[in-house]
Amino acid sequence: MRDCGRRCVYCAAALEFDFATLDHVHPLSHGGAHAPGNVVLACGRCNRLKGDLLPNEFFIRFPWAGANFIRYAHAAHRAHKRCARRAVSLAYAA
Ligand SMILES: [Zn+2]
Repeated sequence: MRDCGRRCVYCAAALEFDFATLDHVHPLSHGGAHAPGNVVLACGRCNRLKGDLLPNEFFIRFPWAGANFIRYAHAAHRAHKRCARRAVSLAYAA
């Protein structure tokens, strides 16, 4: 919980412990690992919104989520943040 500042890394909403869910940045269904660096805290709403999307697909579709992810997902792997930055800049350039 401390690692993400108790916020949803996608919408930045403050999280109550009971409503926090763990999200795999790279979905397990796409071969992502259940390991630190790939697991972040998200609210249930964003977790459902993201579903099984790959991170770059999700961030291009919802650039606000990518912007918050870059800011709040301190524990996430650097490669995910690089990917988020690229997706967000692509989304805003389009
Ligand atoms: Zn959220």
